[in-house]
Amino acid sequence: STFADLGLHPLLTAHLSTKLNITKPTSIQRATLPIFMNPLSEDMAARDVFIQSQTGSGKTLSFLLPIIQDLFPLSTHSYIDRSIGTLAIIIAPTRELAKQISDVLESLLQLRLRPEADSGDPESSTRLTRWLVSGLLSGGATRGHEKARLRKGIPILVSTPGRLLDHLQNTSSFNVGKCRWLVLDEADRLMELGFEDTIKGIVQGLDGRRNLALQAVSEGKSMEVGGWDWERRRRTVLC
Ligand code: AMP
Repeated sequence: STFADLGLHPLLTAHLSTKLNITKPTSIQRATLPIFMNPLSEDMAARDVFIQSQTGSGKTLSFLLPIIQDLFPLSTHSYIDRSIGTLAIIIAPTRELAKQISDVLESLLQLRLRPEADSGDPESSTRLTRWLVSGLLSGGATRGHEKARLRKGIPILVSTPGRLLDHLQNTSSFNVGKCRWLVLDEADRLMELGFEDTIKGIVQGLDGRRNLALQAVSEGKSMEVGGWDWERRRRTVLC
């Protein structure tokens, strides 16, 4: 199958192919994209997904592509008001991993919305980044600087766990009331590194308002995270 067969928007499909030279979905992408692309279900638990796959299998795109397609109605080009706050949170165990995810996300947001209408337009006006902003918080910048960015609004946030919890507890302008996606990348490593209580605090901070939680585990271990019984709530995707 192709990305188009899996329901990916033609603009995203074309961008993957022409800019990133990615034309054929990997097996994890074939397994997860149709699930993630389903319209929001009332039954939120049914949208929890547990991915078990090797590093290098294309896991990152399997959640980033559906997040972009969900948050940005590509067919209408309608504007995402940043004051809505954060709509998707991706948690990674290390700064390096968070930076890698953020870089992939940035390259996806370089998508041009109206390639044919480029001439004369300021370049930025046709890029997805104008509508959908991503941000990385990883403790590399000062807290005050991060607070200012959160006040402006970061629709898609990639973060390490400690700094994220810190902002959830201490940054009043950090608005997560509309957050729809929570991704725990390499959840097993998050646990090994001792972040279990931090993750529980984050889940409490999100106040149960997430519509999807994804746990990506690379080594086949299952666990309870954030007070959820993942064994019961997940949809397991094995690759
Ligand atoms: P990941 O497992 O997400 O760390 O991805 C590993 C590598 O595979 C990255 O360099 C991706 O750019 C690349 N990749 C992801 N999906 C595809 C695909 N469908 N075709 C070719 N390469 C891919």
